[in-house]
Amino acid sequence: MTCRSSGDAGHLPAPGPQAVFADAAEVAARLGPDRPLFCFAPAVLANTVETFIASFPGDVSYAVKANPDERVIAIMAEAGLTLFDVASTAEMALVRRLVPGARLNYHNPIKSDAEIASAYRDFGVRRFSVDHGRELAKVARIAAGDRDVEIAVRFRLATNQGALQDFSSKFGAPPEEAQVLLAEAAALGFRPVLTFHPGSQCINPEAYGEHIAVAAEIARRADVEIATLNVGGGFPAGYTAMAVPPLTAYCATIADMVAEAFGGQAPHLECEPGRALVADAVSLLARVKLVKPDSREVYLNDGVYGALMEFSQCPRLLPPMRVLGHDGSTRAGAMCGFTVYGPTCDPIDRLPGLIELPEDICENDYVEFGLIGAYGAASATRFNGYGDIATVTVKRTLTAAG
Ligand SMILES: *Cc1c(COP(=O)(O)O)cnc(C)c1O
Repeated sequence: MTCRSSGDAGHLPAPGPQAVFADAAEVAARLGPDRPLFCFAPAVLANTVETFIASFPGDVSYAVKANPDERVIAIMAEAGLTLFDVASTAEMALVRRLVPGARLNYHNPIKSDAEIASAYRDFGVRRFSVDHGRELAKVARIAAGDRDVEIAVRFRLATNQGALQDFSSKFGAPPEEAQVLLAEAAALGFRPVLTFHPGSQCINPEAYGEHIAVAAEIARRADVEIATLNVGGGFPAGYTAMAVPPLTAYCATIADMVAEAFGGQAPHLECEPGRALVADAVSLLARVKLVKPDSREVYLNDGVYGALMEFSQCPRLLPPMRVLGHDGSTRAGAMCGFTVYGPTCDPIDRLPGLIELPEDICENDYVEFGLIGAYGAASATRFNGYGDIATVTVKRTLTAAG
């Protein structure tokens, strides 16, 4: 095994700040970066957003928490998205500044009085989600009598299968409570809306169907005609070794079940994906700091306190990976399992299990991790002085298909 000792990329002209690289391999070869970088592909993002808008039988909003990068929000707006799901006043300020005419759905079911007041008065928010009577009372105190205000009652099912991250453990009223909340919201003069979230990376389209059937039942029992049904996020991205149904299967199941369950009184539909819109638009390019060949241990310059936090919490969200030499060539050695660590001095900064990497991986090589656009950039911390990850622009990112 021959290892080149340093990232001697000096033989190529230094690209300007506006440079657009073909892919992460070209970034590695031309910049030889010693700090981790995000490789962002605006064209991939625009294409995903346009496809989602064209496919979904209703309005598409973007759940900002998945990736609040300003470039991401700007591309979304250019691609025609005008509806944003915001969970905090900081997210409201961000979207208002970048997309002044956007409509904001404040779909965090737990809000302080001050946050509700600021949303309503400072940011013009007219849609609030609630999953408890005390939360509805808070909104009613601030927006009493405003018939433009929509209350989205968030409900959950008793059992929820098919998603990798179950949101129903934290949010959502059981159907019988949701029914009471919906009737109360309507009686207060607010526009009644129902919403749910089937859980993130939901690989079973039927989970949406089950929720929609229950939504129709809640509305019927509350004797309320809902203005809108928001089917939440949860649409999956194509992680490695995971069969993911196509978006068209979700859209068909949703449209069919709405027609079946609501009949002639079909509500207007909305969804609020995060992951599915942004995941494949960003790769992470991390550098190998050290390889201990005997013990098959690899130390990278980014890890679980950086952009790989979600993977560490949920090992099935295995990102596609490839190992690049300092000249951008792909390492093609036989694959074997390595223990992979991040750069901090904390023992939990270790990727889950053993990671399959080519046996010829070397110091100063790069590992490209695909599908880092959702909950990667967004959750990097500055722990131990790491995690300040700059972004470069590329045309292509790594996907499970290569
Ligand atoms: C996080 C979140 C979303 C987005 O979920 P994804 O699984 O990323 O699509 C949508 N709605 C709400 C209320 C959320 O909290």
